[in-house]
Amino acid sequence: MPATDLHGRHRAVLPDWLALYYRRPIELTHGEGRHVWDAEGNRYLDFFGGILTTMTAHALPEVTKAVAEQAGRIIHSSTLYLNRPMVEFAERVAALSGIPDARVFVTTSGTEANDTALLLATAYRRSNQILAMRNSYHGRSFSAVSITGNSGWSPTSLSPLQTLYVHGGVRTRGPYAHLSDTDFIAACVADLEDLLGHVRVPAALIAEPIQGVGGFTSPPDGLYAAFREVLDRHGILWISDEVQTGWGRTGEHFWGWQAHAENGPPDILTFAKGIGNGMSIGGVVARAEIMNCLDANSISTFGGSPVTMAAGVANLAYLLDHDLPGNARRVGGLLIERLRAAGAGVPAVREVRGRGLMIGIELVKPGTDEANPEAAAAVTEAAREGGLLIGKGGGHDTSVLRIAPPLSLTVAEAEEGAAILERALDSV
Ligand code: PMP
Repeated sequence: MPATDLHGRHRAVLPDWLALYYRRPIELTHGEGRHVWDAEGNRYLDFFGGILTTMTAHALPEVTKAVAEQAGRIIHSSTLYLNRPMVEFAERVAALSGIPDARVFVTTSGTEANDTALLLATAYRRSNQILAMRNSYHGRSFSAVSITGNSGWSPTSLSPLQTLYVHGGVRTRGPYAHLSDTDFIAACVADLEDLLGHVRVPAALIAEPIQGVGGFTSPPDGLYAAFREVLDRHGILWISDEVQTGWGRTGEHFWGWQAHAENGPPDILTFAKGIGNGMSIGGVVARAEIMNCLDANSISTFGGSPVTMAAGVANLAYLLDHDLPGNARRVGGLLIERLRAAGAGVPAVREVRGRGLMIGIELVKPGTDEANPEAAAAVTEAAREGGLLIGKGGGHDTSVLRIAPPLSLTVAEAEEGAAILERALDSV
């Protein structure tokens, strides 16, 4: 069936706010490595990996085999019974998390992971106040939208949580953008201290080390370490939302929080997206004292099903055995350089930024600082025509191109993608 028919049916039966990319939306039919194919037989190099869900590679045989074998044995909710793949997965994640005395709770999504982190933090501190970052994104549940500081992704303000938004997630915009890194951190810390002088004790600060939906922004290294010192003084927990930055995506670090590690790891870490290589896995890691503060039962029926856990264990093993974080650092470094060179001659390119294989290209109206969502949409379309899928993001004005390929990207593919993107940028 042609994708256009499917598009009509999609529009007739699914919600209007379930936005699709492209004027002629794509129906993907299969993938392999870093490539995907659509229903019309077109092949694309995938620089967005299903919003970072394809962490290692498309149709990775190791993951497919683990899923098929487990599915052939038993598919069920194992919440009430011992679940070997879940225990194995949790042991590995706990060991990698950097959190001492770690306990792991497995969910089905990043939203559910953050919702659980909020449940833990508010119960532990007996406070419904949460500090979150401006321009942040944390998911789509009633609680997650209420800590999302990006109005384009926060469709209601009617949450029972009280959220206070903090400066610092975006380095290049806002009142402190003109300061040096050191002064930027000092200003954000002073702002946080001032805020805390006016409110009761919030339960936690939740932050993405690099904002994903917000446009792959990068605060200066050490910002959250400086925040942590203040939070500790006030008895406030630090939740690091690693849904996009986890598993070595940023190359240099296995977790995004490690760029802010001076005063220790976060109290709670949440993850999702890539760890299942497309299978629905999310989760929360916290010190036992925090994880076990709940005094009633709480289960996630599908969280940690044996099939998704088999995928998670196999995918994580592949990631580590092939040092894909190292590959993200090396190939990502080349790709950033290549894109910086490509962007240098394009007046609409304000900045090419990123770490590892998490790269953002911010577009503005030439000669101004004004966001340019029209150019971002046009470049995205042109890239598609050239055979490359990329993402968009960046506040509600969506003017940042987002590049986050599977972490097994080769140098040749990085070159190929950069060349397509260069032509797409030149064409608008
Ligand atoms: N946190 C972050 C940082 C995210 O980017 C996302 C998804 N874009 C979520 C949470 C929510 O994850 P999910 O869509 O799996 O619920």
